[in-house]
Amino acid sequence: MNVHDSEKVVGTLVSEGYRQVETVEEADLVLYNTCSIRDKAEQKVFNRLNDYKKYQKQGKKFGVLGCVAQQEGEKIFERAPWVSLVAGSASYRNLPGMLKQLEEAPDRSAAFESPAIDSIESHPSNTTKGGAPSVGTKAAKSGAASGKNPVSLVRITGLDDRETDECFETEFTARTNPHRGYITIIEGCDKFCSYCVVPYTRGKERSRTSDSVLVEARQMADLGYTEIQLLGQNVNSYKDPAGKPGGKKSFAELLAAVGEIPGIHRVRFTTSHPRDFGRDIIDAIDAVPTLCDHVHLPVQSGSTRMLDAMQRLYNREQYLERISWMKAAKRPISITTDTIVGFPGETESDFAETLSLLDEVGFDAVFAFKYSPRPNTPSISLEDAIPDAEKVRRLEILMSKQRTIQTLSYKRYIGTQCEAMVEGRNEARAQWMGRTSHNKTLNFTASVDPKVGSYVPVIVTSSFPNSLLGELVV
Ligand code: SAM
Ligand code: SF4
Repeated sequence: MNVHDSEKVVGTLVSEGYRQVETVEEADLVLYNTCSIRDKAEQKVFNRLNDYKKYQKQGKKFGVLGCVAQQEGEKIFERAPWVSLVAGSASYRNLPGMLKQLEEAPDRSAAFESPAIDSIESHPSNTTKGGAPSVGTKAAKSGAASGKNPVSLVRITGLDDRETDECFETEFTARTNPHRGYITIIEGCDKFCSYCVVPYTRGKERSRTSDSVLVEARQMADLGYTEIQLLGQNVNSYKDPAGKPGGKKSFAELLAAVGEIPGIHRVRFTTSHPRDFGRDIIDAIDAVPTLCDHVHLPVQSGSTRMLDAMQRLYNREQYLERISWMKAAKRPISITTDTIVGFPGETESDFAETLSLLDEVGFDAVFAFKYSPRPNTPSISLEDAIPDAEKVRRLEILMSKQRTIQTLSYKRYIGTQCEAMVEGRNEARAQWMGRTSHNKTLNFTASVDPKVGSYVPVIVTSSFPNSLLGELVV
């Protein structure tokens, strides 16, 4: 999600006449996109901002974007006064205006060279819904009082847009991969799981119209993209905000419509929330061959008691019901999930229920995380009673179990033929790197060089816990 946000921000800036460069040294403006979903994200951001400090005298301008920007807000100006712009993702559509104000701001290197600067005050943001970002300019008091030229420090904030109904739509996305591209269909989240910072950083849930998604998907197909991934924190609570009477599309209908665009070979979507995951999504996968046979459905815990505490809005049985729909699909669907271990109050028996769920489902991959308390979330007030060493122990047990499950399930592919999208070449291993429709890494050798971005048949010859190895069929 953040990667795609960066692609949209870069594209928007390039359309405004900026040029992207590879290093901080070459840049005049450095925009740092941040994520605060887990761990000590804030500390990492401030450490990185400290690394930038040495560049302030060269007149470089710095902005912080994303979840940590939203979460820490104007505190960033206090701790890193060389930063001029702080904006959360809900304000990105205002970025061109904010950057114009930044451009017009006085050169900050002058401010930092001036002995007159001894106080830096934050300026309250006055951004209104959909309105222009605010600019705080403040003459340093002692400079003005001492008769020296006052130096203005500019602070631009985009922090007050979390209640917006608007999405960040841009026709200038700078996609980094020429074959596979993302399209955001829904922003924000209204689920408020008790451990999660997303609703506080990305704002309320808002969907793009299906028409605008389809226009973008068709443009991508015309440009030669063959794989599209529909994105959102919670794609299946997608609600088409506009459309002719009777013309609004459900998520499953939108998915099918993207899959039917000529030239599109694969369509993926992430992330699904079990509560909103309907059978119609499986029906769409059954009906439209271009929809990939992979669903990422984060469970978080196998214990209904923990799911309640996490405010996940479903129980173990309801989750397993959705798994049974997938297992009854016409094509075998690969299923992956996220789990959290060590949520406050998780007992050995709750944890054992997560382990038994892994056995029962037989996931194709599990992304497992140690619970970390996040600012503003309801669970931060719960006592984080599980010591880190115990979280680590549970994580290791879970990952080791999943490794055993995957080792067995990946072996089943040996001898079968899969279609791989060619992603590139690993010279050191003399192998091509590919990905199957069920989102498995399939590396392979080839007597004839395949084209990167093409789809080729590969016979699987051996397997590992996280990847398959094969030979190109010629
Ligand atoms: N919207 C998706 C959902 O409902 O599952 C997930 C979004 S979140 C960006 C990705 C994953 O991060 C979650 O599924 C969860 O496992 C993990 N996560 C989120 N907050 C966490 C926290 N405070 N501690 C540990 N893991 C967390
Ligand atoms: Fe976070 Fe829950 Fe929303 Fe996913 S559904 S983004 S875990 S609040």
